[in-house]
Amino acid sequence: MNSTACPCRVSPNTDSSAAPMTYKACCQPFHEGERCANNAETLMRSRYSAFVLTPTDIELADYIVATTLPAQQRLLDKSAIEAWAKDTDWAGLEVVKHTPKLGRRHAQVEFKAYFNSEAGLAVHHELSTFVKVQDASKDGQTKWYFIDPNVATTMSQKQPCLCGSGERFKRCCGRF
Ligand SMILES: [Zn+2]
Ligand SMILES: [Zn+2]
Repeated sequence: MNSTACPCRVSPNTDSSAAPMTYKACCQPFHEGERCANNAETLMRSRYSAFVLTPTDIELADYIVATTLPAQQRLLDKSAIEAWAKDTDWAGLEVVKHTPKLGRRHAQVEFKAYFNSEAGLAVHHELSTFVKVQDASKDGQTKWYFIDPNVATTMSQKQPCLCGSGERFKRCCGRF
């Protein structure tokens, strides 16, 4: 695995004349907790790789949970994440657009995640939103998290935002 291409660097549409980045040089340090993704695109790529590799390393489903906004983590269905990761025949990733700065603490990544279906190559085309949160335990440090849109919609618009920014949800993560 260490010398093979990182799943997030494989795309069905790119002509791979240059060797893609290896897993070891790309997402492995994030999966093993050696480093934290320092921007939304890197975090998104590492989450995609975790989905692809969950069938070979079940603990990567924990990484998918851990990189979702802490206030949403207990609402996630880990067995559903595992089942989805295992039942999908992933075929590559293409980052369409990374918007690293959207206001003070958000970022968005538009991507296409490819998978093989009975009808041939299919694609999930998504625009995901990420938020940078201050880590209270390590003063001043910030960490990026994925905002799960399926969980965020259960929030009331006037509640303080689930990311802990102190702003109202509708003025913060609720805008996306
Ligand atoms: Zn990667
Ligand atoms: Zn927020």
